[in-house]
Amino acid sequence: MKYNRIIKKAIAIGEVIVGGNNPIVVQSMTNTDTRNVLATVQQINQLADAGCQLVRVAVPDIEAAQAIKAIQKKINIPLIADIHFDYRLAIEALLNGIDGLRINPGNIQEQDKVKLIVEKAKERLIPIRIGVNAGSLSQNIINEYNGINAQAIVASACEHIKLLEDLDFDLIKVSLKSSKIPIMLEAYEILNKKIIYPLHIGVTEAGLPGYGTIKSAVGIGALLAKGIGDTLRVSLTGDPVSEVEVGFQILKSLELYENGVEIIACPTCGRTEVNLALMAKQVEDALKFIKKPLRVAVMGCVVNGPGEAKEADYGIAGGNGKGIIFKKGEIVAILPEEMLVEKLILIIKEDLENGGY
Ligand code: SF4
Repeated sequence: MKYNRIIKKAIAIGEVIVGGNNPIVVQSMTNTDTRNVLATVQQINQLADAGCQLVRVAVPDIEAAQAIKAIQKKINIPLIADIHFDYRLAIEALLNGIDGLRINPGNIQEQDKVKLIVEKAKERLIPIRIGVNAGSLSQNIINEYNGINAQAIVASACEHIKLLEDLDFDLIKVSLKSSKIPIMLEAYEILNKKIIYPLHIGVTEAGLPGYGTIKSAVGIGALLAKGIGDTLRVSLTGDPVSEVEVGFQILKSLELYENGVEIIACPTCGRTEVNLALMAKQVEDALKFIKKPLRVAVMGCVVNGPGEAKEADYGIAGGNGKGIIFKKGEIVAILPEEMLVEKLILIIKEDLENGGY
């Protein structure tokens, strides 16, 4: 693994291992009504098709906790229950076979209630994520640390971790959420050095796709580049499938995930002599089905084009109404612009059918 990762305790959530030297796990959360089993199952399966490895559902009441059993029968990825305030929901989720819990022990409030959850989780070897959110720190901590800051968030996390450790429970995962990236980065950096438990990273309430994607990429990317993070969730307003896609794109850009297609496309400039944006989009759409690692360059001219196209597995370097197709650095075709994409796709598909590229 790159980026000097501090190796954390490995914990199993269903069959997915988070922590240790394992690849970083991409997760998401449904936005359906959990009580609506059909809609929730449908969305979870869409997420799984996009590569989502763990999925969380909101459990706001007993009916939602009881729906877990029916949901799990129809999905193939581990399920985590997101629970606030009411310990009985966590107990019910555990009794209904949940694979993981996300709670904020602070808002369960009474320690004996947390103890009941921990006892049941321990019996079943179900991990608990302690989710500390800057927006819900206790007033005592805020007063002690002079406001909502990284030190206060870490202190809150440590307090909750100790609560679970004192109950002899160590299947712990921790997240520290703040919508302010500088605070979030500092908090994770401090906590990463303090604890052995795996870290769930993400930028909470990142917003709409667009700025939310950028904010998530900056926050999550900065942590990953420091070797911090064992599982991630990108939080975007809207369809959660895009959270999974963005999550893998962040990992891919840091070379922490290799599968699937990476399109290298130039930004275009005054030298561009082909419709590069269209060509790059056509190539991306046509190759989405490929799960193996593949780098394809789509470049606009003969200045940087051939160089980049040669570095990739395949590439197009456009020219004056025509262009060159490369495969592993070798020129395999010179064709008019309108034939380049189709031919490139054909070559890649043929190579795939013949066992590889
Ligand atoms: Fe411009 Fe060529 Fe660079 Fe594309 S590859 S940005 S067309 S110089």
